[in-house]
Formats: sequence, structure tokens, C-alpha cells
Amino acid sequence: MPPAVVFPALPPELPVLLLRWYDRHARTLPWRENPTPYRVWISEIMLQQTRVETVKPYFNRFLSAFPNLCALAEAREEQLLKLWEGLGYYSRARNLQRAAQRILTEFQGEFPSDPVQLRQLPGIGEYTAGAIASISFGLPEPAVDGNVLRVLARVTEWREDITRPAAKTAVSAALRKIYPQDRAGDFTQSLMELGALVCLPGAQPQCDRCPLNQLCRCSRNDVWREIPVKPTPRARKIEEWTVLVLHCGNRVALRRRPAVGLLAGMWEFPMLPGHLSAEEAAAALARMESGWQVAPVRQMTARHVFTHREWHMTGYSFDCRSMPAPFTWATPAALNGEFALPSAFSAFRQLLTHLA
Ligand code: SF4
Repeated sequence: MPPAVVFPALPPELPVLLLRWYDRHARTLPWRENPTPYRVWISEIMLQQTRVETVKPYFNRFLSAFPNLCALAEAREEQLLKLWEGLGYYSRARNLQRAAQRILTEFQGEFPSDPVQLRQLPGIGEYTAGAIASISFGLPEPAVDGNVLRVLARVTEWREDITRPAAKTAVSAALRKIYPQDRAGDFTQSLMELGALVCLPGAQPQCDRCPLNQLCRCSRNDVWREIPVKPTPRARKIEEWTVLVLHCGNRVALRRRPAVGLLAGMWEFPMLPGHLSAEEAAAALARMESGWQVAPVRQMTARHVFTHREWHMTGYSFDCRSMPAPFTWATPAALNGEFALPSAFSAFRQLLTHLA
């Protein structure tokens, strides 16, 4: 059994220092105005793996389309995924809808405040439950993400691997002992804010303007480069694909991805494994649909990085004589409107600029 992970006691004056700074420096963000559980939940799910500036317009569009749990629960999947287009990790959007449906049926439409109940909802883990419970309900529940781990590991010069699940548990336990009962939500947000604005990841932290400077062992010992400790990341798997942008008249061929796995159930331009020449791709299409006549027009390459893999793609646009059934043939307007195309394929939209 691995040894228990213990996080050092946090200085009791930390909340006061941080809240004083937060009162002066907190950014105005759409979800901070009127932080209802619904708004905080949507924002926290969107902010996973995504920058604040990117999320802002998505959040506003999403809230306009689905202003409450009922609207989200009843949304058409196509509209839901379209509003998520470009954010990636589409299972997050589907989980939002499933959770909304469960809150309506199991909690009579009232968001639960209990973190244990929150964690039973699809897509809500310990961090999101803590964020909703503290920011919306004012409960002293920690929300520990990578930002918070980095800040507190640096303050205490903690040299444990912060990617171990036990690290979050240990940091949460230490935080609970100093959580301010009267400003729990602000304290949660102040920790996130310091990690986003001052104690930066992958860059020199701005210790000279940090409210925790006097408490911070990393700053005192000038060892911020060494902390937080993380294992060397696994190399991403490289996959080669040939992307087929097939157009006939002003329509373009789309295909649904399998219901499970990467980009499950999303629309895509048809793809073939490997980097094929234009002739090889045309021959593969002719085999796919007997007698199908296609002529290559343009070529381009693109790369898309997922968490654990990279797609290296060669793409061809093909002028087609017919629109065989295995594909869905969409107009450019429909591609922009109802079909959600993952950002992995964004570059290949350039091959469609000649379509009306
Ligand atoms: S003093 Fe520097 S290293 Fe310490 S928490 Fe602040 S920004 Fe991070």
C-alpha cells in the first residue's frame, strides 16, 4: 500500500490575506454575477481544460439558449452539441443534459447543495461539487483543482506528486481547517484567481505582487521551478489520417462517428487511416461506392492535439458526381447551423470556401 499522503498545516492567516487581495483584484466574469448553482455549474464544466477568455462567449450563448434546467433537459442533442462546438470533450455537454434531467426528476428541479448528492450527478466530480457548494450555497467546501494544488504546494513547498488522487484529498483536508465560514464562496474563487493571475503554471510566478508572499516557502527559497511535482507526461500517440472533404454541387459529405470512443457520436468529414495519396484516396472512395466518380481538387495538411493522442491529417477536397447514401450531404449553411463539427476538423473547412 502506498504511504499516506499528508499535507502540511496551512497558515491560519492565509484566508484573510487572500480575500483582501481578491476584493481588489477579482476579475468581472459573467458567471460571477448572480452565481446561482445553475450558472456556476455550467461555467465550471466549460472551464475544465479551457481558458476563461474562450469560455466567456460560449457561456453567454449557452445561457441564452438554455436559461434554466428545464430548457437544458429538453434541448435537442444537435443544438446542445452545436453550442459546445469548439470546446471539445463533448461528453461534458451530454453529461450536463443528463444531470439536468436527473435534477428535475430526483430533486424536483431544485439543485442539491449537499456535495455528496452533487457528486452523484453525471459529470460532477469532487472539484465541481465543491465549487457549487461553496460559491452558490456558501458552504465551507474546498474545490481543489490544478490551480489550487499548485498555489498551496508552492506556499508550503510540498514535494509530493500532485497528480495522485490522494494529493487532492490531503489538500482538501488541510483547507477545511482554515475555510472562512462567512466567505466560503469568495475564498474558493480567490484561490482559483490567484492560480490564474499570479501563481502561474509553466511561467515565473509573480511573487512580488502575491498576497501570500510573506507566507510562501517557495518564494523564500526560490524553488518555484521545482514545485508542483508531477510525473513526466506520457508521450502522445501519433495517428495518421486522410480526411476527405467530398462536395457535390453545394453540399458536403458528413458522417457520424461511432457512439463510443473519441468524439463519440459527433459529425466528421469521412476519414481513412494513414496518409494516402490523392489517387489512393480516390480509389478507396470508388471501392466504397461502386462506380462513384470523384476528382481531387485541393490538398492541405493539419494537426490536432488531444489529451493523449495527436492526429496528423492530410486532407483532400474531391469534386463528386453524385451523393451516395452512406453519407449525410449538408449545405454550408447547415454545416454552420445544425451540424456540430469538432474543432479537429476546423482547418479543413477552408477546402469549402468555394461553395455557396
Ligand atoms: S509567493 Fe510566488 S510562488 Fe508563492 S504563492 Fe505567491 S506567486 Fe506563488
